[in-house]
Amino acid sequence: MARARPGRGGEGGTLVVVLGDQLDRGSPLFARLDPARDCVLVVEAPEEATHVWSHKARIALFFAAMRHFGEDLRRGGVPLSYLAIGTHPHASLAAAWRAEIAARAPARVRCIEPGDWRVLAMLQRVCGEAGVALEVVADPHFLCTREAFERWAGDRGSVRMEFFYRWMRQRTGVLMDGAKPVGGRWNYDTENRRGFGATGPGAIPAPPRFAPDAITREAIADVLRHFPGHPGSLASFAWPVTPADARRALDAFVRERLPRFGRFQDAMWTGVPFGWHSLLSAAMNLKLLAPRDAVDAAERAYRSGHAGLADVEGFVRQVLGWREFVRGVYWKFMPGLAEANHFGHERPLPRWYWTGETRMNCLREAIEQTLAHGYAHHIQRLMITGNFALVAGLSPQAVCDWYLAVYVDAVDWVERPNTAGMALYADGGRFTSKPYAASGQYVKRMSDHCKGCRYDPARRAGDGACPLTVLYWNFVLEHEPALAAEPRTALMAGNARRIGAAERQRIRGDAQRLLAAIETL
Ligand SMILES: Cc1cc2nc3c(=O)[nH]c(=O)nc-3n(C[C@H](O)[C@H](O)[C@H](O)COP(=O)(O)OP(=O)(O)OC[C@H]3O[C@@H](n4cnc5c(N)ncnc54)[C@H](O)[C@@H]3O)c2cc1C
Ligand code: SF4
Repeated sequence: MARARPGRGGEGGTLVVVLGDQLDRGSPLFARLDPARDCVLVVEAPEEATHVWSHKARIALFFAAMRHFGEDLRRGGVPLSYLAIGTHPHASLAAAWRAEIAARAPARVRCIEPGDWRVLAMLQRVCGEAGVALEVVADPHFLCTREAFERWAGDRGSVRMEFFYRWMRQRTGVLMDGAKPVGGRWNYDTENRRGFGATGPGAIPAPPRFAPDAITREAIADVLRHFPGHPGSLASFAWPVTPADARRALDAFVRERLPRFGRFQDAMWTGVPFGWHSLLSAAMNLKLLAPRDAVDAAERAYRSGHAGLADVEGFVRQVLGWREFVRGVYWKFMPGLAEANHFGHERPLPRWYWTGETRMNCLREAIEQTLAHGYAHHIQRLMITGNFALVAGLSPQAVCDWYLAVYVDAVDWVERPNTAGMALYADGGRFTSKPYAASGQYVKRMSDHCKGCRYDPARRAGDGACPLTVLYWNFVLEHEPALAAEPRTALMAGNARRIGAAERQRIRGDAQRLLAAIETL
């Protein structure tokens, strides 16, 4: 592919900064572009792959999608300066922006609002230091603007997704019959929690694979050349990297997996990395696919009778509800969310989070598939790796860095609220109603992982006791009064009250022993 090429954007013009997760050809930035004076700047910066130790597939996906986008801009005659890795001397986005501003002396820099607080602060700093005006344009990709979310949230110190979701359904008319939710209920969550049962998941249609073309192969080669020591594998890389790929991925999901999506959302099974999930998060987060298109396609599947309401509502709730909600929450609670540590957890991340070399079947399975594909589904992230991190008292900042590094869909605005807020309760529940702590018994119910595991999920102390179970009970005992005070966790504390003094001591002692040997679990 063609390398860095000077464009315009010089004196009096606009330098249009496009970030790696802003690959939207319909962006208002392009409608306002004056090809005679302006220039688009896209930078592949090493620091963006190294500030957390990014999975090779995550870096490759960004580079591949950015390069396809660059080609599309060139074909459209858009003046472009594309700084590919290895062709420029800049270690960071900031250094590249500084150099381009100095060389071009634009009248202004224009950018869609970044999805990362750190990147916005960096852009503001660079422009401020260079004395050039910065125009930050609202991101029309989202169905709820940051301002609309702020208005909805008002001055409430804590917010809840369910109420936001209902408001979004009303605002957008999605799955509505007039003023009422289709089917008479807002939420079919209770029908979305089935396991695969004793016989397992049966045949699940495989998600489409997008074989790397020449541009993607070159991006992969560059990742191997520049980031050889990074975690994860590129062997199975087959992610959508263009809007056309993303549309095909959406169509295949709606046709083949949406009809079973909702009911099996929480189910896990050995050797089944994708289940009935959509695998659309990365395409949406890079802006290759509009969330409205995904939601509309799902609603059409319901209205045409192709998929049932519980399955379709389950999907709509994730995209129209959770995805928009966590973005609003991110901007409302940053930068405090980055430092939040409600429980004062400080333990470093065990090394096996980066290798999968643990004897705990459930964690090994979730981490190995993460390293193989850059993907794990929500319940694996929340109730396996996240749950362990919570009950083992791992540092929220170390855990956030891991999640940001290892998933192909990881961008700060969505990763951080999910990790710090939902999985770790590090913010003390400003947008979630309880810590999602669970024992090995939950894993046993929702998967086949406990079969053949060297640990026993039913045992909370003693030889062979499941670490998740021991650490769960230790966590509950430690936070018993606070859990008792909250209606959604009162049951946890109620169960703990039935544990006698001797067993409490055993659980606490075993938990300390497990934590001391955490690297060997
Ligand atoms: C600790 C933790 C970290 C996470 N980090 C990320 C992340 O970095 N990037 C990311 O996109 N998602 C993240 N999620 C949310 C969710 O796990 C992923 O969006 C989902 O697993 C992606 O797979 P999928 O596309 O197959 O999703 P599906 O299960 O098919 O769901 C459909 C879509 O709904 C959206 N969605 C579902 N749940 C959430 C959620 N909780 N928050 C926001 N959007 C949601 C996604 O866009 C997803 O593509 C995280 C969740 C947890 C618990
Ligand atoms: S027994 Fe415990 S560690 Fe083993 S798979 Fe089950 S929950 Fe995981």
